[in-house]
Amino acid sequence: MERISIFDSEAVDRLRAELKFEPRRLRAARTALFKKFRGVTAALAELPDGARDVFTRRVEFHPLAVEQALDSGIDGATKLVLRTPAGLLIESVIMRTGTGRVSLCVSSQVGCAAACGFCATGQMGIARNLSAAEILDQVVLAGERMAAEGRRVRNIVFMGMGEPFHNEEAVYEAVTTLLAPEMFQHTPGRILISTVGIPDAMIRCARRFPAVNLALSLHSVRQSVREQLMPLAAKYSLDELRSAILAVNRIQQNTLMIEYLMLAGLNDSLDDARELVAWLRGLDAHVNLIPYNPIASAPHLRTTERPHRDAFAEVLRAAGFVTTIRYSLGADIAAACGQLVQQENRETVRQQTLSSVRA
Ligand code: SAH
Repeated sequence: MERISIFDSEAVDRLRAELKFEPRRLRAARTALFKKFRGVTAALAELPDGARDVFTRRVEFHPLAVEQALDSGIDGATKLVLRTPAGLLIESVIMRTGTGRVSLCVSSQVGCAAACGFCATGQMGIARNLSAAEILDQVVLAGERMAAEGRRVRNIVFMGMGEPFHNEEAVYEAVTTLLAPEMFQHTPGRILISTVGIPDAMIRCARRFPAVNLALSLHSVRQSVREQLMPLAAKYSLDELRSAILAVNRIQQNTLMIEYLMLAGLNDSLDDARELVAWLRGLDAHVNLIPYNPIASAPHLRTTERPHRDAFAEVLRAAGFVTTIRYSLGADIAAACGQLVQQENRETVRQQTLSSVRA
């Protein structure tokens, strides 16, 4: 029999009705799982005796298996390598910052179809969508590890593998479950969805989740440079993106995040900074300048040197835009922005394709 996902609240509610136990017992189990991250055994202990066995047999609690957990030796990052039921590997990154706050970077896909030249995930060459349960289990597995350390995941950012808006339905279902009072009850302002820039999807997302934060990976306001860096830019023009941000700004109270990767000689001149200012004029936007984390498949790219990066930031600040220089954690365990990749997946997909051809 197909097992019920613990994240499918309607199906789990039906199972409770079938087993005829009090709703408050299920509520207590969900609190243990999704609010306190105490694990499956503690959650099952909240259920009546007769229900415990049935839940153990019929409910899928963890669609993902932890393949590996790597702790950074230089900062507070931990990378979780997780295996999906289809045998593919994805990664989540836990970031403990100096202030004691914890952010979790989740993946929305295995690989990515956006194929950005500076991003290891984009160079993997495959793209498979994750289910809502597979997205949510990343939050639970990280949450349980943090609970064991006496910490909590405060921010959830969709900045791991994949383009969230190439998997809109599962991402929206996951966010709905994260926000649901009876499930995770996560604060919407502590969720951020980062996109390569798909205008319609940005507006749909803002309408559906007005308090959830959006980030746009902009990287250049010159159409030709942006297309050179991100193939998808050819499909969605900078004008369309700007109109989408205006629309999002009208729907949301939140300031939209602009991610700007600093690449020496490509997008980092002071003229680029001035053009960025002109493009952003009239928008409610906060700029994050991201130093480029080197990846093996793009040896020709270099990050902007620090003094020059500071001068670039100064142009933006002088024009009144809040600008932050964002450092990513976990460079020693290939957990920094853009470094998430699992080559083994290609072999798994190849074998699965071969066996389905043979079957
Ligand atoms: N597909 C989404 C989310 C995943 S990438 C998006 O494009 O926004 C999360 C962020 O990391 C993006 O801003 C992306 O441009 C950035 N990034 C990708 N490769 C990087 C690299 N090598 N160094 C630094 N940042 C990188």
